[in-house]
Amino acid sequence: MGSTSSIQFCRRNNKTFLRIFMILVLSCIPGLTNLCSNPSVTTPTDLLPSNPSDTLSSLDSLDLEGYISFNDVNNASKDFGNRYQLPPLAILHPRSVSDISTMMRHIVGSTSNLTVAARGHGHSLQGQALAHQGVVINMESLTSPGMKIHKGKQPYVDVSGGELWINILRETLNYGLSPKSWTDYLHLTVGGTLSNAGISGQAFKHGPQINNVYQLEIVTGKGEVVTCSEKRNSELFHSVLGGLGQFGIITRARISLGPAPHMVKWIRALYSDFSAFSRDQEHLISKKNAFDYVEGFVIINRTDILKNWRSSFTPNDSTKANQFKSDGKTLYCLEVVKYFNSEQANTINQEIKKLLSELSYIPSTLFSSEVPYIEFLDRVHNAETKLRAKGRITWCGQMLVRGEINRDIMS
Ligand SMILES: Cc1cc2nc3c(=O)[nH]c(=O)nc-3n(C[C@H](O)[C@H](O)[C@H](O)COP(=O)(O)OP(=O)(O)OC[C@H]3O[C@@H](n4cnc5c(N)ncnc54)[C@H](O)[C@@H]3O)c2cc1C
Repeated sequence: MGSTSSIQFCRRNNKTFLRIFMILVLSCIPGLTNLCSNPSVTTPTDLLPSNPSDTLSSLDSLDLEGYISFNDVNNASKDFGNRYQLPPLAILHPRSVSDISTMMRHIVGSTSNLTVAARGHGHSLQGQALAHQGVVINMESLTSPGMKIHKGKQPYVDVSGGELWINILRETLNYGLSPKSWTDYLHLTVGGTLSNAGISGQAFKHGPQINNVYQLEIVTGKGEVVTCSEKRNSELFHSVLGGLGQFGIITRARISLGPAPHMVKWIRALYSDFSAFSRDQEHLISKKNAFDYVEGFVIINRTDILKNWRSSFTPNDSTKANQFKSDGKTLYCLEVVKYFNSEQANTINQEIKKLLSELSYIPSTLFSSEVPYIEFLDRVHNAETKLRAKGRITWCGQMLVRGEINRDIMS
């Protein structure tokens, strides 16, 4: 905010009365603000457009390859979990980078108070991807140019900022390649996670997703299209990565790839002592050639946790696992994964056995499973699909949804 390259523009004018009136109207309509018991949301009056009808007609006159919708704005009015409802005036569905640039130039050159927000898959909180009475740019409609994979010594993929990570995984796997760093949930956009960090159990080895980007194409707050990298326009590069959408719109990203494994050994074990749990995690992330993924969960007040695991995991010692009681205890679950290919099938179990022998989990709680790489990476979506089918995902509250998903994954 406030810099020429920032995305949100605040241009004051004197029509204070109209702005106050709009806020009063909006705050009186139930459902337009917080639907759950959450902190109250107000948009500062100087961030609301000064003359909505002039603004609408000026937006309508833009020469675009894509289109602008003014009526059907529901999808871009809420954040994930429906905690914040801040409808935009319009949604831009860009077909090209030039559409985004045209929009940004139009806004920066106008006297309206329009705000702009890029929206990926809309999974962020606190209204991050919302622009109250402003313009939301629906990044998922930017599908061209398509994905381009470059093989070679340092393979990479060039993708649109609106591409979903799951699609990148599917496409790169056709070449035996894959991005190295992930989020737990893959149905998120490249621009959305690169604006945050992009963290999962591979981050200890490869860094978060923002550490695995060679180059970005950005539309700045002035509407310029700029290519940036570590060496070229590096200030913009480092500002946009993890910049919460405030320093420019990511229209294209060059993401580093590595060889994709075929299979993973997926292992879980429980601890009752937090110090032992965190000591083992630290040991694993500092050891070379140990696991490829390390995460952990806290389990509170679950009954029969190991019984639930049996649907997807096999206990190391079935009899002892049957005797373990989780009821009422606070437990810590270590989750680790080792990637492997068919030629390593004979040695992988020995390697894992050795690594596990260095840990101090509760022996009866050791469970493992063997699944294809893609199935492991897409695990949260699989759990989400199951929960949706059972009607257990509702609109109220990201924490509820994430809690449910985590619980389901644990089962
Ligand atoms: C169920 C669930 C699980 C999650 N798990 C993880 C996880 O394991 N690891 C993790 O790191 N995060 C996780 N998150 C958080 C998630 O990564 C972030 O909220 C991410 O921003 C969502 O991406 P999105 O495409 O939905 O972005 P949106 O929510 O649409 O946007 C997020 C922010 O990025 C900006 N933005 C979007 N696209 C662009 C663009 N092209 N250029 C510039 N700015 C842009 C938006 O304006 C907004 O500020 C999870 C979220 C959910 C709901």
